[in-house]
Amino acid sequence: MTMTETRPTPTSKPKQETTHFDVIIAGAGISGVGTAYHLTQQCPDKSFVVLEGLESFGGTWHTHRYPGIRSDSDLYTFGYRFKPWVGAPIATAEEILSYMGEVIEENGLARHIRYRHKITSARWSSKNNLWTLEVTRTDTGEQLHFTTNFLWMCQGYYRHEKGYTPEWEGMKDFRGVIVHPQQWPEDLDYKGKRVIVIGSGATAATVVPAMAADCAHITVLQRSPTYFIPARNENKLADQLRALEIDETWIHEIARRQILQEQAEFTRRSFEEPEAVKRDLLGAVRAYLGPDYDIEKHFTPKYRPWRQRVAFIPDGDLFRGIASGKASMVTDEIERFTEKGILLKSGEVLEADIIVTATGFDLSVLGDIRFTVDSAPVDFSKTVTYRGMMFTGVPNMVWIFGYFRASWTLRVDLVADFVCRLFNHMKKKHVRKVTVALRPEDRDMPLKPWIDPENFNPGYLMRGMHLMPKRGDKPEWQHTQDYWAEKKELPKVDLDASEFIYE
Ligand SMILES: Cc1cc2nc3c(=O)[nH]c(=O)nc-3n(C[C@H](O)[C@H](O)[C@H](O)COP(=O)(O)OP(=O)(O)OC[C@H]3O[C@@H](n4cnc5c(N)ncnc54)[C@H](O)[C@@H]3O)c2cc1C
Repeated sequence: MTMTETRPTPTSKPKQETTHFDVIIAGAGISGVGTAYHLTQQCPDKSFVVLEGLESFGGTWHTHRYPGIRSDSDLYTFGYRFKPWVGAPIATAEEILSYMGEVIEENGLARHIRYRHKITSARWSSKNNLWTLEVTRTDTGEQLHFTTNFLWMCQGYYRHEKGYTPEWEGMKDFRGVIVHPQQWPEDLDYKGKRVIVIGSGATAATVVPAMAADCAHITVLQRSPTYFIPARNENKLADQLRALEIDETWIHEIARRQILQEQAEFTRRSFEEPEAVKRDLLGAVRAYLGPDYDIEKHFTPKYRPWRQRVAFIPDGDLFRGIASGKASMVTDEIERFTEKGILLKSGEVLEADIIVTATGFDLSVLGDIRFTVDSAPVDFSKTVTYRGMMFTGVPNMVWIFGYFRASWTLRVDLVADFVCRLFNHMKKKHVRKVTVALRPEDRDMPLKPWIDPENFNPGYLMRGMHLMPKRGDKPEWQHTQDYWAEKKELPKVDLDASEFIYE
């Protein structure tokens, strides 16, 4: 909220009318919009509404407005399987929003979405087999009530209101401006300014080349390096097919298969021959920065490839900024902020007018909504996940949590197929409630954190892992993060298997 906006004043009398839908989708990001599409196609008889807390659709791509904001996945796979992507593989937030806007428009989804509707609580009643949602209208403060048979959580995984900034000593002493990329001030003037960007992930890699030309100088200050893949922002095969005037629907499918095959191979190599992958990745960086640059210090992570997202650098723009001298890397730790900038543990001082804290997100487990099941509060960290989408003891609810090593949206399409199949199965069985439950053979199964930190360990997950649902050691009881396996397994799941309890 900017300083000039006023906060909504709650109306004196909260309205008590309740509106019912068969399905309620929480959130109108790429997951919620995709889910809405699939519902209209696969379960056309279901009534549904998408409740979105913000004033427009897009989620991540609506919230983030920092310079250069773009995807780091290719849009052939970050796009939906049902809507061809016709541009360059890496897309700006604006292009992604425009693509989503077309999906909404072409499929008449706008009438199903209610903006500025923030869900604050969800109560399940087994007596009525219904969820009751309390919803706040963020423009009027009005309290609304909705009931639904099924809650489809597409609220993402991080808090949209505010990013994560660690507390450093002396931050208050700094005389310049401190900005988090998640709340980028529209009028931030960085022309001719000295800028430090704290962080080493995809956001830092995006914001730095976008700002470098205008700043006096921009410094990336990182505690430890990240892996990057610099490559041209093009898909040669798609361009060739386009030149042959092949139908875009075909091009989309072919480009997806090609990219997914290459990614599967990259993932396999990252696990089976990590040293060779590391050499390839560092070699690509070296090609931009030359033989004398200290790649070992600034671009050689401590972890093996793919333990954190590998950020794609279109046309090597970050490295070209460094090679030109407009941007530089510092790998060190912060001792404290000072009036003029940052004192590092090494004793070096970095002076700045603007400090950008590209330090990540604040994990939000299920949209900060208070959940109860038959009046008992739900602590998701005490539940076990069914395939990273349902939770033991929580009926009629699914959460779309995408992939780390493949585009998030691939899972939106797969989970939608699964849930729509489940809905149609429940209709045939004349049942209204489905809960997943551990089977007798799962009783002694060791329960572990949502994801193995050895396998994937970004900061926001490490900080919030204790709040996330648990996983077991069988494919049914974990988010395997393996798109290629799930693509085959999910359509074959036996919906009458004993882990599904229907009533
Ligand atoms: C800068 C950035 C770049 C990224 N780039 C990629 C990429 O290239 N490829 C990739 O695969 N992933 C990427 N990701 C991860 C990305 O977040 C997901 O891919 C995807 O956009 C998530 O979509 P979503 O719809 O599930 O969640 P979100 O985009 O987070 O949208 C969730 C929506 O739900 C709404 N909401 C939340 N809580 C409530 C509530 N209680 N009531 C009502 N509404 C609510 C939010 O307002 C929001 O609009 C990126 C993330 C960030 C932050």
